[in-house]
Amino acid sequence: MTQVVQGQSIEPGRLFINNTFVEASSGRRFETISPSTGEVITDVAEGGAEDIDAAVSAARAALSGKWGSMSASRRGELLYRVAALIEERAERLSILETLDQGKPITESSKVDVPLAARIVRYFAGWADKLHGETLPVSGSYHTYTLREPVGVVGQIIPWNFPILIACWKLAPALAAGNTVVLKPAEQTPLTALELAKIFADAGFPPGVVNVVTGDGPGAGASLVRHRGVDKIAFTGSTPVGQEIMRVSADTLKRVSLELGGKSPHIIFGDADVTSAVFGVINGIFYNKGEVCAAGSRVFVQRSVHGAFMEQLVAATQKRAPGDPFNPKTRLGPQVSEAQRERILGYVASGKAQGAKLVCGGEAASVDGKGYYVQPTVFDEVDNGMTIAQEEIFGPVVSVIPFDDAEDVVRQANASIYGLAAGIWTRDIKLAHRTARAVQAGTVWVNCYNVFDPAGPFGGVKMSGFGRDLGRAALEDYTETKTVWVDLS
Ligand code: NAP
Ligand code: MG
Repeated sequence: MTQVVQGQSIEPGRLFINNTFVEASSGRRFETISPSTGEVITDVAEGGAEDIDAAVSAARAALSGKWGSMSASRRGELLYRVAALIEERAERLSILETLDQGKPITESSKVDVPLAARIVRYFAGWADKLHGETLPVSGSYHTYTLREPVGVVGQIIPWNFPILIACWKLAPALAAGNTVVLKPAEQTPLTALELAKIFADAGFPPGVVNVVTGDGPGAGASLVRHRGVDKIAFTGSTPVGQEIMRVSADTLKRVSLELGGKSPHIIFGDADVTSAVFGVINGIFYNKGEVCAAGSRVFVQRSVHGAFMEQLVAATQKRAPGDPFNPKTRLGPQVSEAQRERILGYVASGKAQGAKLVCGGEAASVDGKGYYVQPTVFDEVDNGMTIAQEEIFGPVVSVIPFDDAEDVVRQANASIYGLAAGIWTRDIKLAHRTARAVQAGTVWVNCYNVFDPAGPFGGVKMSGFGRDLGRAALEDYTETKTVWVDLS
């Protein structure tokens, strides 16, 4: 039944296979819930192994159909149309994202949706600029390389940036000529289905983009096991990434994994403290801390620790949780009740292990509803504590005071993760030395959480491998074929 929520008419969701919306073959459905009210928004088809099989067959057929022979510049044109349609439908997309995910409307309308369009446009431009090389080999040969699509790509994405991550996975894969089966997270299926409509309306041939909603153990695991899938691109938790890599070994699928993080955010004593506090607040409370690159371990040099904490606490207290549809709200509800419970469990562990709770730490609600958590600051944290080692994925920051510039790098690197890092200092040598020394895929100096379609993003260590965004993303979506032609 079509429902009207927040002024948008929302139909029950169905799977998108071969440019057609269909029910799951099992007929099963699941509910998607609004985290700001706990109410059901609508229900969505729950795809399983048979549906994945149908989607993979459609994607395989599309590779040898119109799409496979389409010129690269035409692929680019179709992607440009997708970017324009995202912009045209930005209001609806932002509302659906905030409804399903809980992120403040200011973030979805000013960041997630416009950035999604920019990313698609960026990769549209790459479609006809990918090419092989002619090689100066020994002997009488004409030797060149071709950059070919990997084939059918399975993309499995999380709930923290649903439309944004969908676009940053889909756009480079399609620019390079692959076909895709996308599995969105069960908590946030709505914008992926809107996006499916956009791809069809832009003129993508059937089977090039397929969206199978469902859960991880069902739809997700079937996609990873499927023999007809050539590559899995995954963003999500480290344990699921490990499982995907293990299962992919059976068919030797290509795998790229963008996993968790526990990113260090280092404030040296000579930093502009006010700017650093702004960066730290943005680094941990943006998207209610549900950010893989969240700056969740804040190392502060003792010489500025007092001044820093005073400003940090004042700024944190201004981030009151609020209705995500209020444009003034900067802190929405966590994505689900389960996620809120997980976060509160970490708060309890921080207290039990002796960290000093400076503010927040409790569940919250707005008009008696919603899965909110107060913005939370722990001080005097030890880097060995659970709250400093495990990804919390919520609005909880751990401040770790330090004395010695050499030692802080050792502590920053004492983590299984290596996704991102932030550095605040006015000393140019210290900034660059530290940027080299920290183990991370991205380092922000005197800024944090800055993203652009041109800037590669991904991790080292147990934060995974492969890069999203930038030219680097395209590498992961092509195979190099070498052709030798005897000229003698
Ligand atoms: P997750 O379990 O890793 O989920 C990510 C995606 O993988 C979802 O689409 C999920 O499906 C799917 N999935 C789960 N099990 C699978 C399997 N065996 N085979 C194939 N696909 C599978 O992450 P989560 O449970 O949503 O979040 C848990 C924690 O992961 C967070 O608290 C956070 O620490 C981390 N996380 C990291 C990122 C990141 O950007 N690096 C993003 C989100 C979460 P369903 O969820 O629909 O079942
Ligand atoms: Mg939801």
